[in-house]
Amino acid sequence: MAYAEQGEVIAEFVDTTKRFGKVLAADRLNLRIGKGEFLSFLGPSGCGKTTALRMLAGFEAPTEGRILIDGQDIGAEPAHRRPVNMVFQHYALFPHMTVAENVGYGLRQRRPKLAKDDIAARVARALDTVRLGDFGPRRIWEMSGGQQQRVALARAIVNEPKILLLDEPMAALDAKLRAEMQMELLSLQRKLGITFILVTHDQQEALSMSDRICIMGKSRIAQIGTPRELYDRPANRYVADFVGRANILPGTVTRNIGEHALVRLASNHDVVVEAPRPVNPGDKVDIAIRPEGLRLGASAEPGLPDITATVARMTFLGEHVEYLLRHPDLGELQVMVPRQAERALPGVDVGTQLHILWDQGNGLILGQD
Ligand code: ATP
Repeated sequence: MAYAEQGEVIAEFVDTTKRFGKVLAADRLNLRIGKGEFLSFLGPSGCGKTTALRMLAGFEAPTEGRILIDGQDIGAEPAHRRPVNMVFQHYALFPHMTVAENVGYGLRQRRPKLAKDDIAARVARALDTVRLGDFGPRRIWEMSGGQQQRVALARAIVNEPKILLLDEPMAALDAKLRAEMQMELLSLQRKLGITFILVTHDQQEALSMSDRICIMGKSRIAQIGTPRELYDRPANRYVADFVGRANILPGTVTRNIGEHALVRLASNHDVVVEAPRPVNPGDKVDIAIRPEGLRLGASAEPGLPDITATVARMTFLGEHVEYLLRHPDLGELQVMVPRQAERALPGVDVGTQLHILWDQGNGLILGQD
């Protein structure tokens, strides 16, 4: 979904940089976030995800560059004046207050004052939205982890922000509840139609929830794209490794074929791969190919390079079996074999020699990190 290209931009980072003393936490971020978009910042610990979010919220000021909301530079606006709310990892609820008091807290602080009835109606609406309609009088300690999470959400949406920022909001939940909350959060976002920006280091979470993902690496944006774009066309080695799994192999371009290229591997096999950027014969490149982009055969197939490798490990995963193979020149290769296809490989075990079948056009040439 090309939100930003449609011109419906709600927030924008323009060459935004943040330094904490000598630490460069965000390095010239450039990013446009669309109205109604679900965008995730994904990256390992310390890459600057939270810093990006906190700058948008107004908890940190950029050292250089700008942040725009609705086209306005909001650099000088304090956090409480921005049309933005944040849900924190540990929810930051007030334990001595009831659920309804927690949700209405921000509304009660508003000046000029809001009428009591108005506050009560808004709180009730927010609690209904997160399916806690009957829980208003309860105390926070009487609520489960998942319910507390929803209270935090209700508190964040009660004053109808344009953007909701979520800093690892599911990190404290167990796996099952986490999966449930992910789906709930997504349907809440679709229902409210407001922009959600999620920080996470969990790639499954980012892939399953986001319209677009901003992959962060070492304080910089490594790539921005839809989950499918990032998976199918990782821009570089870092993204190929971080999103899903990939076999990454060095090679030398021998020929250009339109949007593809013929690449010679270290084993002297020639493979036809996608070339998302212009390359020339003689260029040294890295190729990424997903484990499901390779097939295994008991014999070679005409027209395909004959790459023979030895099975080092087989991992049963239900619908698929993951094979790890070793090749003397190519090293280790992962191949994901559907159960159906495995029937054509009877009697295979660790130590068996198999043929890796690399179909033309599978895999792609990576850019520089
Ligand atoms: P995590 O997933 O662990 O929360 P992150 O990707 O959100 O990590 P940030 O919290 O944005 O990363 O931190 C980026 C870098 O900036 C880190 O090196 C961190 O130590 C540093 N940093 C963040 N906040 C501060 C601060 N207030 N003072 C000094 N350094 C900071």
